[in-house]
Amino acid sequence: MRAYLSMGTNKGDRNDNLEKTLRYLDSVPEIDIISISSIYETEPWGMIEQQLFLNIVILIDTVLDPESLLHACQQIENRIGRQRLVHWGPREIDIDILLYDNLTIQTENLTIPHPFMEKREFVLAPLREIAPELILPSGRSVIATKGEGKVKKTLFK
Ligand code: AMP
Repeated sequence: MRAYLSMGTNKGDRNDNLEKTLRYLDSVPEIDIISISSIYETEPWGMIEQQLFLNIVILIDTVLDPESLLHACQQIENRIGRQRLVHWGPREIDIDILLYDNLTIQTENLTIPHPFMEKREFVLAPLREIAPELILPSGRSVIATKGEGKVKKTLFK
């Protein structure tokens, strides 16, 4: 199955957090990374007095079901040392499942498609880059959809 994951970090060494996350994901035998967007620097959502985020979106191929994929992502979040002190506060790494195949899932742990994916430019900008042909769950094309929030593509890939 194909899935799009969004990742954000605004605590500690942000580039290193992204790199470690990709390395750990890649070391899961059931996950293959297909493509990785550039890194985007973005303004925090919710609480504004914190460091800027670095965000990326990746496409993976996986044989894990959605719950197992979430579990794998959460293990990586924990391994990188995230402490949930403040809701929407600084975090080493946050991994969200944006889309999983063309499934719609609504359970206690998981909402797919991710409810905010079409609203936030920090998701849409990297998604547009790696999946310009993508039609979003609303039926609009990703190219024609602009989200909220300032984002800036960095020189790093
Ligand atoms: P947060 O890290 O604050 O974004 O929220 C983490 C919680 O969101 C986890 O406990 C997940 O169970 C839940 N969640 C619901 N839908 C998703 C999704 N599509 N991707 C990742 N986490 C999700």
